[in-house]
Amino acid sequence: MDSKQYVALTAAQIAEGVRTKAFSAAEVTEAALARAHEVDPKIKAFITILDDRARAAAKAVDANVAAGKPMKLAGVPVALKDNLCVDGTRTTCSSKILNNYVPPYTGTAVQRILDEGGIPIGKTNLDEFAMGSSTENSAFFTTRNPWDLERVPGGSSGGSAAVVAARIVPLSLGSDTGGSIRQPAALCGITGYKPTYGRVSRYGLIAFASSLDQIGPFARSAADAALVTGVMAGKDPFDATSANKPVEAELFDLKAPARLTGIRIGIPREYFIPGTDPVVDQAIRAAIETYRGLGAEIVDVSLPNTEHAVAVYYIVATAEASSNLARFDGVHYGHRTLEKTGLVDLYSKSRAEGFGPEVKRRIMLGTYALSSGYYDAYYLKAQQVRSLIRNDFVEAFKKCDAIISPTSPTAAFKIGEKSADPLSMYLSDIFTISANLAAVPGISIPCGQTPGGLPIGLQLMGEIFDEVRLLKIAAAYQTLTKFHEAAPAI
Ligand code: GLN
Repeated sequence: MDSKQYVALTAAQIAEGVRTKAFSAAEVTEAALARAHEVDPKIKAFITILDDRARAAAKAVDANVAAGKPMKLAGVPVALKDNLCVDGTRTTCSSKILNNYVPPYTGTAVQRILDEGGIPIGKTNLDEFAMGSSTENSAFFTTRNPWDLERVPGGSSGGSAAVVAARIVPLSLGSDTGGSIRQPAALCGITGYKPTYGRVSRYGLIAFASSLDQIGPFARSAADAALVTGVMAGKDPFDATSANKPVEAELFDLKAPARLTGIRIGIPREYFIPGTDPVVDQAIRAAIETYRGLGAEIVDVSLPNTEHAVAVYYIVATAEASSNLARFDGVHYGHRTLEKTGLVDLYSKSRAEGFGPEVKRRIMLGTYALSSGYYDAYYLKAQQVRSLIRNDFVEAFKKCDAIISPTSPTAAFKIGEKSADPLSMYLSDIFTISANLAAVPGISIPCGQTPGGLPIGLQLMGEIFDEVRLLKIAAAYQTLTKFHEAAPAI
């Protein structure tokens, strides 16, 4: 299989081709690895490329095909964000504190993909501990946007977005705590899906903020995203917050409806605000007209507590992070200082050396919000406002089936443009954060380009566990438009 044939195939097409022996998993894997080694030096998306492991997995898949075993992702190359544990494989969270961490186990979502014949091609770069929106907070290097190497791919799952955009793999996994799948999907011109909180087990995802974290896919279409979500979804005894919901068969073969008659799409007035780049705003308005043309009813809705979402998120997420990251102290886990010190200094020096500036900022913010005397004023208050935000969505979904908005207020920004100003970076998640606070699913799909040729993404949010309907609404748009098929020249 040559590179041209390989990059033209979707995940579903690869699985079908391997199952019917049109080509082997080994051939697909060689094409994927060749492309990874050719393109990655330009975009720097991989922390580790798993040549040997990928080849071994391909061999096993081909043997299983010969033995007649059905596999939903037979031979499909997949890249994994480097905060997802894979046994025997370095898993860094793009942090110096986990520079040499090799987990002894594989997380559930990844294991389910491997069990269905997925091929692990590599581990991808992220903002350290998934804290950021650009991958500039990686302790190792910044990933470049395949559409413009001077620009960020978004974050925190920037590496996983870049490898799908650059057609190295048709599928990858990210994690989304406040937008880390949807925002980089938008900036890289691909489809990115954050399932309902609890849909996919978090076991084996190194925790950032446990009440917000969710694993999800990057793909080239909503149908491929549905397929891999179906593979990962379902109850897991290792994650008590994973939901005991049957997995809908429709996810595995998502059919885009030709018409959206009877579907109501809500426009939240609080998301159409002056801060959004007019080019982005225009692209979203054009997409709304496309939906109207598909027969959907367009209705106005309100999410009145939106203005508080960023503030609430940066209290809840940092509070949970300060607790989750306490285990990285050079004794339980992670880098240990070489300085000869006493016990207390050992902890503080190891952490001072191991964590980067953004992670330290978040640990300090979160510790402050949880400290006695401030707990009621910050953490408790934030939890109360989170309930109001969740309730906004409950009310809005009485009037509509999906909510449409921009994914990000701007297209990809230049490397360095926002790194000196954390607040302006935090505001790039203004449209994505609420879905995590409310636990609802959200998808970003490509809906246009700036005059400079950078992708623009639109976000659709759905009701809790109403995933099939949400993905179908996204798929309907992708049958009428070609934006998701556009690829960078790289
Ligand atoms: N950009 C947001 C943050 O910095 C969201 C990150 C994420 O979803 N992991 O926290």
